[in-house]
Amino acid sequence: MAHDENEAHRAKVEAIAAEVRERVRRGEPIHIQKGGVHHFVPLPGDRRFAGRAVDISGLDQVLDIDVGAARCVVEPGVTFAALVAATLPHGLVPAVVPELEGITAGGAVAGCSVESMSFRHGGFHDTCAEYEVVTGDGRVLVCSPELEPELFHMIHGSYGTLAILTRITLRLVPAKRHVHLRYRRFDDAPSFDAALRSVVAEGQEDFVDGIIHGEGPGDFVLCLGRFVDAAPYTSSYRWLDIDYQSTRRRDEDYLTTPDYLFRYDTECHWLTRTLPPLEWKPVRLLLGKHVLGSENLIRWSKRLERLLALRRRPDVVVDVFIPARNLRTFLRWYAADFRFYPLWVVPYRVPVPYPWVAREHAARFRDVLLVDCAVYGKRNTEPGRDFSQLLEDKTYELDGIKTLISRNHHSRERFWQIYDEPAYRAAKARLDPEGVFADLYDKFHPER
Ligand SMILES: Cc1cc2nc3c(=O)[nH]c(=O)nc-3n(C[C@H](O)[C@H](O)[C@H](O)COP(=O)(O)OP(=O)(O)OC[C@H]3O[C@@H](n4cnc5c(N)ncnc54)[C@H](O)[C@@H]3O)c2cc1C
Repeated sequence: MAHDENEAHRAKVEAIAAEVRERVRRGEPIHIQKGGVHHFVPLPGDRRFAGRAVDISGLDQVLDIDVGAARCVVEPGVTFAALVAATLPHGLVPAVVPELEGITAGGAVAGCSVESMSFRHGGFHDTCAEYEVVTGDGRVLVCSPELEPELFHMIHGSYGTLAILTRITLRLVPAKRHVHLRYRRFDDAPSFDAALRSVVAEGQEDFVDGIIHGEGPGDFVLCLGRFVDAAPYTSSYRWLDIDYQSTRRRDEDYLTTPDYLFRYDTECHWLTRTLPPLEWKPVRLLLGKHVLGSENLIRWSKRLERLLALRRRPDVVVDVFIPARNLRTFLRWYAADFRFYPLWVVPYRVPVPYPWVAREHAARFRDVLLVDCAVYGKRNTEPGRDFSQLLEDKTYELDGIKTLISRNHHSRERFWQIYDEPAYRAAKARLDPEGVFADLYDKFHPER
């Protein structure tokens, strides 16, 4: 790391630590304000931004790229778009790159981001080697599997409730200039499930995910990708054409590596479907530059939510992780009771048991392969049926676990059957002894 960058980083971190100490002295609870957009569903009575904001938006630099060691050191506010732009010229990319350009390294650790390389590497946090954090009493602490193993593995999935990440060391993997995609179509859930498992077990692909477009013949699409040096042509889904729709029509495709990694960014997966004209070519031609792309779409949807004074029940946007052995059962239930497509399907190997998952619940996985079934945008207005709650209940019933990015319904008791309360309390006592950050359950659940 260059001397000046190191000094500048240290000064920023010391200023944040001083600010935290001042808030502690005043007895003021805090939340982390990282700048940019949040990949969170806005909620009525949101408790996630309670307390004074500590502004960490200045922590947005790539500090070091060690090409020989395939490691990179970044401040947490670096977006994945910036990270890929910095590493790809060296023939490297982060081992896990969440698909939206504006997701940051810090947010990806705190919120456990996954993507189509997760079948090999796990979540983004599983590819990290060291965190520097500012604790809730304003100390600067370095955690790694060697230095502070208990704390290190508690920081991911803590959603900003234990400490402020200020520096992250992450692993890079070799990359080429293009990605060759092949789409394999299946007629039903069992054949799709069997193919998904065998592709993961064979381990020949660089990228594996799936898009389920519906319940009919050919609707189950397995998307397989490999890095290649050269491509006979390249498609672009950055403006007029729509990536997820292309997976229905095409058998193969070539994309540049950044276009592949951020293939869902233009539509923010398929958020554009909620306003159909956004999928019309003339509209995209005229307005695309201003409204397409995840950051634009999230900003616009936030404004619209404000205009609509926040519906009590926002659309269902959530990732649920189902043990692979239960995927068929989940898809059967989904087709009968949920029926919202496309459904994004991402295999995710859990490389080490996570101490924040309660031991009894982790034992229920009985599988190191989980499948992230990501629901992006189901309307939830049916009287008497809350689809967000139904999905949460089904995930628990099938021994899975979900992200906390939108509405959460578990009782306190049930929540701490899934998350490890003693481990969380022990980490909280060391990292946030004054309790300036919200408690994990309180931050993500409405007051009862
Ligand atoms: C519409 C939508 C689409 C999504 N698509 C994908 C996807 O394609 N792939 C994927 O992997 N994930 C996806 N996600 C989930 C996303 O990865 C997580 O929500 C992630 O946490 C977002 O990070 P962010 O940088 O946007 O941070 P934010 O959304 O701003 O914050 C997320 C959490 O991280 C905490 N946090 C942020 N920075 C820090 C820090 N420096 N220190 C400590 N805590 C911090 C915040 O307090 C907050 O609790 C999606 C989510 C939504 C709502």
